[in-house]
Amino acid sequence: MKILVTGGAGFLGSHLCKTFLKKGYSVICLDNFITGSRKNVEQIMNDPKFRLIEHDISNPIMLDENIDWVLHFASLASPVHYINHPIKTLKSGLLGTHNCLGIAKAKKAKFFLASTSEIYGDPLIHPQSEEYWGNVNPIGIRSCYDESKRGAEALTYAYMREHKVDVRTIRIFNTYGPNMQIDDGRVVSNFIVQALQEKGLTICGDGSQTRSFCYVDDLVRGIIKLMGVDYNQPLNLGNPGEYKVIDLARIIIELTRSKSSILFKPLPEDDPKRRRPDIMKAKQVLGWEPEIELREGLKKTVEWFKTQLLGK
Ligand code: UDP
Repeated sequence: MKILVTGGAGFLGSHLCKTFLKKGYSVICLDNFITGSRKNVEQIMNDPKFRLIEHDISNPIMLDENIDWVLHFASLASPVHYINHPIKTLKSGLLGTHNCLGIAKAKKAKFFLASTSEIYGDPLIHPQSEEYWGNVNPIGIRSCYDESKRGAEALTYAYMREHKVDVRTIRIFNTYGPNMQIDDGRVVSNFIVQALQEKGLTICGDGSQTRSFCYVDDLVRGIIKLMGVDYNQPLNLGNPGEYKVIDLARIIIELTRSKSSILFKPLPEDDPKRRRPDIMKAKQVLGWEPEIELREGLKKTVEWFKTQLLGK
Protein backbone atom coordinates (compact mmCIF):
# COMPACT_ATOMS: atom_id res chain seq x y z
CA MET A 1 0.00 0.00 0.00
CA LYS A 2 1.38 3.42 -0.96
CA ILE A 3 -0.04 6.56 0.62
CA LEU A 4 0.46 10.18 -0.33
CA VAL A 5 0.06 12.58 2.58
CA THR A 6 0.02 16.30 1.81
CA GLY A 7 1.04 18.39 4.79
CA GLY A 8 2.88 15.25 5.92
CA ALA A 9 5.37 17.23 8.00
CA GLY A 10 2.61 19.19 9.74
CA PHE A 11 0.91 18.52 13.05
CA LEU A 12 -1.62 15.92 11.92
CA GLY A 13 0.21 14.79 8.77
CA SER A 14 3.33 13.79 10.68
CA HIS A 15 1.32 11.60 13.07
CA LEU A 16 -0.32 9.95 10.05
CA CYS A 17 3.01 9.32 8.27
CA LYS A 18 4.37 7.60 11.39
CA THR A 19 1.23 5.51 11.85
CA PHE A 20 1.26 4.34 8.21
CA LEU A 21 4.95 3.38 8.36
CA LYS A 22 4.26 1.35 11.51
CA LYS A 23 1.61 -0.51 9.54
CA GLY A 24 4.22 -1.32 6.90
CA TYR A 25 2.83 1.02 4.23
CA SER A 26 4.97 3.20 1.97
CA VAL A 27 4.53 6.92 2.48
CA ILE A 28 5.15 9.88 0.21
CA CYS A 29 5.07 13.02 2.32
CA LEU A 30 4.51 16.33 0.54
CA ASP A 31 5.09 19.55 2.42
CA ASN A 32 6.05 23.11 1.57
CA PHE A 33 7.22 23.73 5.17
CA ILE A 34 5.23 26.91 5.65
CA THR A 35 3.88 25.60 8.95
CA GLY A 36 5.18 22.03 8.77
CA SER A 37 8.58 21.20 10.24
CA ARG A 38 11.40 18.81 9.33
CA LYS A 39 11.72 18.05 13.04
CA ASN A 40 8.26 16.42 12.96
CA VAL A 41 9.52 13.79 10.50
CA GLU A 42 13.18 13.50 11.46
CA GLN A 43 12.74 10.10 13.21
CA ILE A 44 11.31 8.58 10.02
CA MET A 45 13.49 10.38 7.49
CA ASN A 46 15.78 7.34 7.05
CA ASP A 47 12.98 4.79 6.79
CA PRO A 48 13.31 3.24 3.30
CA LYS A 49 9.53 3.33 2.95
CA PHE A 50 9.40 7.08 3.57
CA ARG A 51 9.94 9.69 0.90
CA LEU A 52 9.79 13.42 1.52
CA ILE A 53 9.08 15.81 -1.33
CA GLU A 54 9.24 19.54 -0.70
CA HIS A 55 6.35 20.83 -2.76
CA ASP A 56 3.41 23.21 -2.51
CA ILE A 57 0.32 21.21 -3.41
CA SER A 58 -1.38 24.35 -4.77
CA ASN A 59 0.83 23.61 -7.79
CA PRO A 60 0.32 20.39 -9.76
CA ILE A 61 2.82 17.55 -9.33
CA MET A 62 3.49 14.49 -11.49
CA LEU A 63 4.30 11.32 -9.59
CA ASP A 64 5.52 8.22 -11.42
CA GLU A 65 4.56 5.53 -8.96
CA ASN A 66 1.24 3.86 -8.19
CA ILE A 67 -0.61 5.38 -5.28
CA ASP A 68 -3.45 3.75 -3.33
CA TRP A 69 -4.55 6.69 -1.17
CA VAL A 70 -4.22 10.46 -1.37
CA LEU A 71 -4.73 12.17 1.98
CA HIS A 72 -4.99 15.94 1.71
CA PHE A 73 -3.94 17.40 5.06
CA ALA A 74 -1.96 20.40 3.82
CA SER A 75 -3.37 23.65 5.14
CA LEU A 76 -2.66 26.56 7.36
CA ALA A 77 -4.98 25.55 10.17
CA SER A 78 -4.41 28.11 12.89
CA PRO A 79 -6.51 31.28 12.63
CA VAL A 80 -3.48 33.52 13.25
CA HIS A 81 -1.70 31.89 10.31
CA TYR A 82 -4.58 31.71 7.88
CA ILE A 83 -5.78 35.24 8.64
CA ASN A 84 -2.24 36.45 7.81
CA HIS A 85 -1.98 34.31 4.66
CA PRO A 86 -5.50 34.23 3.23
CA ILE A 87 -4.50 33.61 -0.38
CA LYS A 88 -2.13 30.73 0.43
CA THR A 89 -4.94 29.26 2.56
CA LEU A 90 -7.47 29.49 -0.27
CA LYS A 91 -4.97 28.00 -2.69
CA SER A 92 -4.17 24.96 -0.57
CA GLY A 93 -7.88 24.34 0.14
CA LEU A 94 -9.10 24.86 -3.43
CA LEU A 95 -6.21 24.35 -5.88
CA GLY A 96 -4.55 21.84 -3.54
CA THR A 97 -7.71 19.77 -3.26
CA HIS A 98 -8.19 19.95 -7.02
CA ASN A 99 -4.63 18.73 -7.62
CA CYS A 100 -5.03 15.91 -5.08
CA LEU A 101 -8.29 14.81 -6.67
CA GLY A 102 -6.55 14.87 -10.06
CA ILE A 103 -3.86 12.57 -8.69
CA ALA A 104 -6.47 10.28 -7.13
CA LYS A 105 -8.40 10.10 -10.40
CA ALA A 106 -5.29 9.43 -12.50
CA LYS A 107 -3.95 6.77 -10.12
CA LYS A 108 -7.36 5.25 -9.34
CA ALA A 109 -6.52 5.99 -5.73
CA LYS A 110 -8.93 6.75 -2.92
CA PHE A 111 -9.09 10.35 -1.71
CA PHE A 112 -9.28 11.49 1.90
CA LEU A 113 -10.11 15.11 2.70
CA ALA A 114 -9.22 16.77 5.99
CA SER A 115 -12.14 19.16 6.29
CA THR A 116 -13.06 21.07 9.40
CA SER A 117 -15.70 22.07 11.91
CA GLU A 118 -15.10 25.58 10.56
CA ILE A 119 -17.40 24.73 7.67
CA TYR A 120 -20.18 25.19 10.27
CA GLY A 121 -18.96 28.77 10.86
CA ASP A 122 -20.47 30.44 13.92
CA PRO A 123 -23.09 27.71 14.31
CA LEU A 124 -26.74 28.43 14.95
CA ILE A 125 -27.41 24.88 16.09
CA HIS A 126 -25.65 23.08 18.90
CA PRO A 127 -24.02 20.56 18.93
CA GLN A 128 -23.16 20.41 15.24
CA SER A 129 -24.17 17.33 13.28
CA GLU A 130 -23.12 16.55 9.72
CA GLU A 131 -26.56 17.57 8.44
CA TYR A 132 -26.04 21.19 9.48
CA TRP A 133 -25.12 23.46 6.53
CA GLY A 134 -23.40 26.08 8.62
CA ASN A 135 -23.37 29.81 9.22
CA VAL A 136 -20.30 31.22 7.49
CA ASN A 137 -19.50 34.84 6.69
CA PRO A 138 -18.33 34.44 3.08
CA ILE A 139 -16.21 37.63 3.08
CA GLY A 140 -15.03 37.73 6.71
CA ILE A 141 -11.45 37.29 7.90
CA ARG A 142 -11.97 33.55 8.51
CA SER A 143 -13.60 32.98 5.12
CA CYS A 144 -10.27 32.10 3.47
CA TYR A 145 -10.23 28.96 5.61
CA ASP A 146 -13.95 28.24 5.99
CA GLU A 147 -14.86 28.77 2.36
CA SER A 148 -11.79 27.01 0.99
CA LYS A 149 -12.71 23.93 3.03
CA ARG A 150 -16.34 24.22 1.94
CA GLY A 151 -15.07 24.51 -1.64
CA ALA A 152 -12.79 21.52 -1.00
CA GLU A 153 -15.81 19.48 0.07
CA ALA A 154 -17.72 20.61 -3.03
CA LEU A 155 -14.79 19.56 -5.25
CA THR A 156 -14.55 16.23 -3.46
CA TYR A 157 -18.21 15.39 -4.08
CA ALA A 158 -18.04 16.68 -7.67
CA TYR A 159 -15.18 14.23 -8.32
CA MET A 160 -17.10 11.47 -6.61
CA ARG A 161 -20.19 12.08 -8.76
CA GLU A 162 -18.52 12.91 -12.04
CA HIS A 163 -15.36 10.77 -11.98
CA LYS A 164 -16.39 8.10 -9.47
CA VAL A 165 -13.44 8.84 -7.18
CA ASP A 166 -13.84 6.93 -3.92
CA VAL A 167 -13.76 9.61 -1.23
CA ARG A 168 -13.66 10.04 2.54
CA THR A 169 -14.25 13.38 4.29
CA ILE A 170 -13.72 14.18 7.93
CA ARG A 171 -14.64 17.40 9.66
CA ILE A 172 -12.01 17.85 12.31
CA PHE A 173 -12.86 19.66 15.55
CA ASN A 174 -10.11 21.40 17.56
CA THR A 175 -7.30 18.86 17.89
CA TYR A 176 -4.17 19.20 20.01
CA GLY A 177 -1.10 17.24 21.00
CA PRO A 178 2.59 16.71 20.30
CA ASN A 179 4.03 18.06 17.01
CA MET A 180 2.15 21.35 17.26
CA GLN A 181 4.58 24.20 16.77
CA ILE A 182 5.43 26.48 19.69
CA ASP A 183 4.27 29.45 17.61
CA ASP A 184 1.18 27.65 16.22
CA GLY A 185 -1.06 30.33 17.69
CA ARG A 186 -4.05 28.13 18.55
CA VAL A 187 -5.45 28.18 22.02
CA VAL A 188 -4.08 24.94 23.52
CA SER A 189 -0.49 25.47 22.40
CA ASN A 190 -0.60 29.18 23.25
CA PHE A 191 -1.85 28.55 26.79
CA ILE A 192 0.60 25.72 27.47
CA VAL A 193 3.61 27.67 26.20
CA GLN A 194 2.52 30.80 28.08
CA ALA A 195 1.96 28.82 31.29
CA LEU A 196 5.35 27.08 31.03
CA GLN A 197 7.05 30.43 30.45
CA GLU A 198 5.13 32.04 33.33
CA LYS A 199 3.65 34.60 30.93
CA GLY A 200 0.05 35.79 31.02
CA LEU A 201 -2.44 33.50 29.31
CA THR A 202 -4.04 35.50 26.49
CA ILE A 203 -7.81 35.08 26.59
CA CYS A 204 -9.68 36.48 23.62
CA GLY A 205 -12.95 38.13 24.66
CA ASP A 206 -14.27 37.14 28.09
CA GLY A 207 -13.35 33.48 27.62
CA SER A 208 -16.97 32.31 27.68
CA GLN A 209 -16.75 30.96 24.12
CA THR A 210 -16.52 27.18 24.00
CA ARG A 211 -14.50 24.60 22.09
CA SER A 212 -14.27 20.81 22.26
CA PHE A 213 -10.72 19.50 22.30
CA CYS A 214 -9.65 16.17 20.85
CA TYR A 215 -6.28 14.55 21.57
CA VAL A 216 -4.40 13.77 18.37
CA ASP A 217 -4.14 9.98 18.98
CA ASP A 218 -7.92 9.71 19.14
CA LEU A 219 -8.25 11.59 15.86
CA VAL A 220 -5.64 9.40 14.12
CA ARG A 221 -7.46 6.27 15.32
CA GLY A 222 -10.67 7.62 13.76
CA ILE A 223 -8.92 8.37 10.46
CA ILE A 224 -7.49 4.85 10.23
CA LYS A 225 -10.92 3.39 10.99
CA LEU A 226 -12.55 5.48 8.27
CA MET A 227 -9.96 4.30 5.72
CA GLY A 228 -11.08 0.77 6.53
CA VAL A 229 -14.79 1.23 5.83
CA ASP A 230 -16.82 2.03 2.77
CA TYR A 231 -18.42 5.32 3.84
CA ASN A 232 -18.29 8.37 1.59
CA GLN A 233 -20.27 11.04 3.44
CA PRO A 234 -18.63 13.67 5.69
CA LEU A 235 -17.99 12.56 9.26
CA ASN A 236 -17.39 14.71 12.31
CA LEU A 237 -14.32 13.61 14.27
CA GLY A 238 -13.82 15.36 17.56
CA ASN A 239 -14.22 15.06 21.29
CA PRO A 240 -17.68 16.12 22.50
CA GLY A 241 -16.34 17.34 25.87
CA GLU A 242 -17.07 21.08 25.67
CA TYR A 243 -15.10 23.69 27.63
CA LYS A 244 -15.14 27.45 27.97
CA VAL A 245 -11.82 28.96 26.90
CA ILE A 246 -11.41 30.50 30.36
CA ASP A 247 -11.83 27.07 31.97
CA LEU A 248 -9.22 25.64 29.62
CA ALA A 249 -6.85 28.38 30.83
CA ARG A 250 -7.55 27.49 34.47
CA ILE A 251 -6.97 23.78 33.87
CA ILE A 252 -3.66 24.46 32.10
CA ILE A 253 -2.47 26.78 34.89
CA GLU A 254 -3.35 24.07 37.41
CA LEU A 255 -1.67 21.23 35.47
CA THR A 256 1.53 23.18 34.89
CA ARG A 257 1.50 24.65 38.45
CA SER A 258 2.19 27.96 36.73
CA LYS A 259 2.18 31.39 38.36
CA SER A 260 0.85 32.91 35.14
CA SER A 261 -1.97 35.40 35.29
CA ILE A 262 -4.76 35.84 32.77
CA LEU A 263 -4.68 38.63 30.17
CA PHE A 264 -7.83 39.61 28.33
CA LYS A 265 -7.54 40.56 24.65
CA PRO A 266 -10.20 41.63 22.15
CA LEU A 267 -12.18 38.82 20.58
CA PRO A 268 -11.28 38.49 16.88
CA GLU A 269 -14.03 39.09 14.31
CA ASP A 270 -16.34 36.15 13.55
CA ASP A 271 -14.87 33.99 16.34
CA PRO A 272 -17.40 31.15 16.79
CA LYS A 273 -19.19 31.33 20.15
CA ARG A 274 -19.84 27.64 20.68
CA ARG A 275 -18.53 24.49 19.10
CA ARG A 276 -19.16 20.84 19.93
CA PRO A 277 -19.31 17.88 17.60
CA ASP A 278 -22.26 15.54 17.40
CA ILE A 279 -20.35 12.27 16.87
CA MET A 280 -23.30 9.89 16.62
CA LYS A 281 -22.46 9.11 12.99
CA ALA A 282 -18.82 8.29 13.75
CA LYS A 283 -19.99 6.02 16.58
CA GLN A 284 -22.38 4.20 14.25
CA VAL A 285 -20.17 4.01 11.16
CA LEU A 286 -16.78 3.45 12.80
CA GLY A 287 -17.56 2.30 16.32
CA TRP A 288 -15.29 5.21 17.26
CA GLU A 289 -15.29 7.67 20.08
CA PRO A 290 -12.50 9.57 21.82
CA GLU A 291 -10.86 7.78 24.74
CA ILE A 292 -8.45 10.40 26.01
CA GLU A 293 -9.97 12.84 28.43
CA LEU A 294 -8.87 16.51 28.29
CA ARG A 295 -6.64 16.53 31.39
CA GLU A 296 -4.87 13.34 30.31
CA GLY A 297 -4.23 14.68 26.80
CA LEU A 298 -3.12 18.04 28.14
CA LYS A 299 -0.61 16.37 30.50
CA LYS A 300 1.01 14.55 27.57
CA THR A 301 1.03 17.75 25.53
CA VAL A 302 2.56 19.75 28.39
CA GLU A 303 5.38 17.17 28.66
CA TRP A 304 6.02 17.46 24.95
CA PHE A 305 6.12 21.26 24.97
CA LYS A 306 8.51 21.15 27.95
CA THR A 307 11.03 19.20 25.85
CA GLN A 308 10.50 21.57 22.92
CA LEU A 309 11.09 24.66 25.03
CA LEU A 310 14.25 23.15 26.55
CA GLY A 311 15.55 22.26 23.11
CA LYS A 312 15.14 25.79 21.83
N1 UDP B 1 -8.09 31.95 21.88
C1 UDP B 1 -7.74 32.59 23.05
N2 UDP B 1 -6.43 32.84 23.28
C2 UDP B 1 -5.44 32.49 22.41
C3 UDP B 1 -5.81 31.83 21.23
C4 UDP B 1 -7.13 31.58 20.99
O1 UDP B 1 -8.60 32.92 23.89
O2 UDP B 1 -4.25 32.75 22.71
C5 UDP B 1 -9.51 31.66 21.67
C6 UDP B 1 -10.02 32.03 20.28
O3 UDP B 1 -10.45 33.38 20.23
C7 UDP B 1 -11.15 31.04 20.11
C8 UDP B 1 -10.67 29.79 20.87
O4 UDP B 1 -9.68 30.26 21.76
O5 UDP B 1 -12.33 31.51 20.72
C9 UDP B 1 -10.09 28.71 19.98
O6 UDP B 1 -9.15 29.34 19.15
P1 UDP B 1 -8.14 28.56 18.21
O7 UDP B 1 -7.25 29.58 17.58
O8 UDP B 1 -7.47 27.46 18.95
O9 UDP B 1 -9.02 27.85 17.09
P2 UDP B 1 -10.48 28.04 16.49
O10 UDP B 1 -11.32 27.07 17.20
O11 UDP B 1 -10.96 29.46 16.71
O12 UDP B 1 -10.28 27.73 15.06
